[in-house]
Amino acid sequence: MVREQVLSATNSVGRKSEDIRLIVVTKGQPYEKVMEVIEAGAKFLGENYVEEAIPKIAETGEASGIEWHMIGHVQSRKARKVCEQFDWVQSVDSLRLAHRLNRFAKELEIKLPILLECNVSGEESKFGWRAWSELEWEQLAGEFAPILELENLSVHGLMTMPPFFANPENSRPFFIRLRNLREYLKLQFPGFGWKELSMGMSADFMVAIQEGATIIRVGTAILGERKI
Ligand SMILES: *Cc1c(COP(=O)(O)O)cnc(C)c1O
Repeated sequence: MVREQVLSATNSVGRKSEDIRLIVVTKGQPYEKVMEVIEAGAKFLGENYVEEAIPKIAETGEASGIEWHMIGHVQSRKARKVCEQFDWVQSVDSLRLAHRLNRFAKELEIKLPILLECNVSGEESKFGWRAWSELEWEQLAGEFAPILELENLSVHGLMTMPPFFANPENSRPFFIRLRNLREYLKLQFPGFGWKELSMGMSADFMVAIQEGATIIRVGTAILGERKI
């Protein structure tokens, strides 16, 4: 169902469905459900809380070939665990967190792929860099610059979570804003990887794909309502 919708969204704007990475968000779902989606072919799974993720990651095992994405806010003191457990961190929202992840990535001798989470709506309850006004982008670029220099992190692009709307069309301006920000950063920092735009969830991933998402994060539309 979600795969068909991805196909129809990519077709509607002349994109290829292979260019969209589907992260199945398993937060609040029991281990059995996690195994079900893996058996159904999921390769990328997302979790918001490191404590919840640790047993799931352990039980699915290395051999599963699953790539685990941290998509929730990470407290700096949990950075070590996150670095040890996850293959990607999509929710890097402060310089302090970036520094800590870099330090632990260095200890582990890995280069950790990250996304910079941006708040493009101005909604106060959302984490992420202040990015809702274009007037702030220059300052934002200045804040990103030192992160791009960190040796054990590789910045692959941006992530956002717009406010929830019953009508997905209302998310469109925020997706466009994130894409525009990405274009701006590409000009400021050519030669860095700004390829990924992680945007779109169960309610609005089709609109996100039309606006250039390369990563969508879908939970309930695949797994049903969460327990927690
Ligand atoms: C929970 C969550 C999702 C998935 O939400 P659904 O509406 O269940 O698809 C995606 N991204 C983030 C950051 C989340 O916290």
